Amino acid sequence: MSDIPTATPSEGFELLLAGNQRFVTNAPEHPNQDATRRAEIAPGQQPFAVLFGCSDSRLAAEIIFDRGLGDLFVVRTAGHVVGAEVLGSIEYGVDVLDCPLVVVLGHDSCGAVGAACAALEDGMAPAGYIRDVVERVTPSVLAARAAGRVEPQEVLAEHVRHTVDLLLDRSRVLAEKVAAGQAAVVGLCYRLADGSAQLVAARGLDTHVATAS
Ligand SMILES: [Zn+2]
Repeated sequence: MSDIPTATPSEGFELLLAGNQRFVTNAPEHPNQDATRRAEIAPGQQPFAVLFGCSDSRLAAEIIFDRGLGDLFVVRTAGHVVGAEVLGSIEYGVDVLDCPLVVVLGHDSCGAVGAACAALEDGMAPAGYIRDVVERVTPSVLAARAAGRVEPQEVLAEHVRHTVDLLLDRSRVLAEKVAAGQAAVVGLCYRLADGSAQLVAARGLDTHVATAS
């Protein structure tokens, strides 16, 4: 079984939402995971979404969205922090592979967000390059606090929205694709306990799709 590659941002988003719903209700179909699909896409990939999420082991992209080989172009860093390699990878997915959708995926109980909050509390910087991760999450935590959002879920949503805006600020390629209606960027907050993903940001997506979720 294989799906036809999607052409529009909203079609891609609906595929992801449907897959997540199957995962949440424990009714996965495991599409595109067989040998036929493997052979079919060996000559070339045409994924329908770039998934940029936290590296957390509980956030396995193809599992929580019930997808398979060749469906998602996945980029993950701790706390979904953004650097040059992340931007280049996302631009490759959008510009070279023509993915119509970029998803930023954060989650509750995120260690990187927690570490940034802790570093602000006690003023202690983590060791090594973990510090680099924490420093890139800190602006989101400060923005959430400035807006009076102090609950963990609110801080996470702020970090996901901040990441969505950061991608569009930093990547001209992505911003132009969104402005032209050829791509959308959405932010999702994932709940570890029930496996559901909530929309917290949408740029360039049809509003009726965004509100339907
Ligand atoms: Zn995380």
